[in-house]
Amino acid sequence: MSTSEAAAADKKSNNFIRTIIEQDLAAGRNDGRVMTRFPPEPNGYLHIGHAKSICLNFGLAEQFGGKCNLRFDDTNPEKESQEYIDAIKADVQWLGFQWEEPVRYASDYFEQLYQWALHLVREGKAYVCHLSAEEAREYRGTLTEPGRNSPYRDRSVNENLEWLEKMRRGEVEEGECVLRARIDMASPNINLRDPILYRVRKASHHQTGDEWPIYPTYDFAHGQSDAIEGITHSICTMEFEDHRPLYDWLLDNLPVPYRPRQYEFARLNLNYTVTSKRKLKQLVDQKIVHGWDDPRMPTLAGMRRRGYTPASLRNFCDMIGVSRAEGVVDVAMLEFAIRDDLDKNAPRAMCVLNPLKVVITNYPERQVEQLTAPNHPVRDDLGERTLPFTRELYIDREDFREEANKKFKRLVLGKKVRLRNAYVITADEVIRDDAGEIVELRCSYDPDTLGKDPADGVKPKGVIQWVSATEGKRAEVRIYERLFMHPAPDRGGEEFLEHINPKSLTVLTDCWIEPSLAAAAPEDRFQFEREGYFVADRYDHSSKHPVFNKTIGLRDTFNEQGGNAGGAA
Ligand code: ATP
Ligand code: MG
Repeated sequence: MSTSEAAAADKKSNNFIRTIIEQDLAAGRNDGRVMTRFPPEPNGYLHIGHAKSICLNFGLAEQFGGKCNLRFDDTNPEKESQEYIDAIKADVQWLGFQWEEPVRYASDYFEQLYQWALHLVREGKAYVCHLSAEEAREYRGTLTEPGRNSPYRDRSVNENLEWLEKMRRGEVEEGECVLRARIDMASPNINLRDPILYRVRKASHHQTGDEWPIYPTYDFAHGQSDAIEGITHSICTMEFEDHRPLYDWLLDNLPVPYRPRQYEFARLNLNYTVTSKRKLKQLVDQKIVHGWDDPRMPTLAGMRRRGYTPASLRNFCDMIGVSRAEGVVDVAMLEFAIRDDLDKNAPRAMCVLNPLKVVITNYPERQVEQLTAPNHPVRDDLGERTLPFTRELYIDREDFREEANKKFKRLVLGKKVRLRNAYVITADEVIRDDAGEIVELRCSYDPDTLGKDPADGVKPKGVIQWVSATEGKRAEVRIYERLFMHPAPDRGGEEFLEHINPKSLTVLTDCWIEPSLAAAAPEDRFQFEREGYFVADRYDHSSKHPVFNKTIGLRDTFNEQGGNAGGAA
């Protein structure tokens, strides 16, 4: 299914989970409550796929006047950390959502879960099994063959209780035994073949310290946590569909205070993008990028630093919809969402990325003329700024040629061009260094062209950006391209690292910005006219050392031949 077909199908289904909730409310189920949760494991930063889940869970709660919990699914202490917890909380809030206080942790429920494990043992529905991992695999059977019962399956309740308590007291080594549910080794669903509920792990936990030498599995923790919190609709991705019978079995066999239901939807897959925390961690650990919040990362922290707005990500999640059909979304849709937002909301400014000096020979030395320019072509509410015009300016090297055909609508030797928001100039002479490289242009300006056409009626075809060489400021600009050159870097195994784009980052250190830009606050976003959208770096930007990151170009097919942002000045 293509992206547009998938999007259309999603639109038609009108978000099937919303429909389910509407029906539940109409039937008076759950006492009219809607309670969802977003349950990240704190083993990495959130990525664009998580944004889909966040928008869905918090969005449904908002829409139906319900509540949404943030619950850390923290049952694997070795891989988890407080750094990830803090980053996840910050990202959820940045996206624009607020959880129902307090933040929850599955580890808050470890004692209750342990009591429920004892309950299952007493009911003869769980047992301690000493098969090695390898033996357990053999006993489990395959998709086509049933499993076999463990030799420990029929031990007495008392013996099981003794062993479970020993596990709890830390008197058992890792790998020596596990607690398993006693369900059905012949079930066609492998998840029901006596799944593991507890493992021995002598690891310190970021929330509970050294209190627990045993940790519940995802399956034993998740549904019961939902029940404790009174979650009505427990929404997860399709890979948990086969776990749903186990989710239900546990709730049916435990004295839980509430009966939640699980619903699955298709995860977001984006082309040219990796959305697996494990692989993203590899990029960080191998220093292929500069941390989890590198602007090339599809993490929320990375996209934030790249200049993406929360609104654009929420709009993107709306656009892609929610369904059960797996598909791949074109990253161009995400790029559309950010362009659309920034086009409407980002103030315009001028920046010269590759400077070429221009001297206006008929302009008085040391004169500074304060021109004014609107900050946005249609948004008057964004105001205007002053733009100093001086004898020495910079324009972009790309915007000048000694000779060119008519398609080149920029500055050509002997011809005219309009400087954006300023005058029309003519290129009179080229100055070269000893190596023959052009180092300066001598131009003349027509003082009677501010906001009007030249008197001779010959209108210049192009408009280019410029910055005063004496009043402007030098800046660092980081140009980002896609991190992966392959449309499906994530699909294969480890070879995803082979698809890394070696040119994903170019740092330009001799860029020139108009003075108003030096006053930008970190994270302020702009359209640099004719260049694209840029953001002042969240960490490295200051008025002393301005640093901007390129968010995205002006349009998908921004062409080399003088794509023009502005029409007439
Ligand atoms: P990853 O596969 O990237 O490691 P995960 O599923 O292990 O992700 P969790 O922290 O367990 O990460 O995810 C929290 C929630 O976000 C879960 O409900 C999960 O289903 C959902 N989620 C994760 N990845 C995606 C995705 N690509 N699209 C939609 N939802 C996702
Ligand atoms: Mg997970």
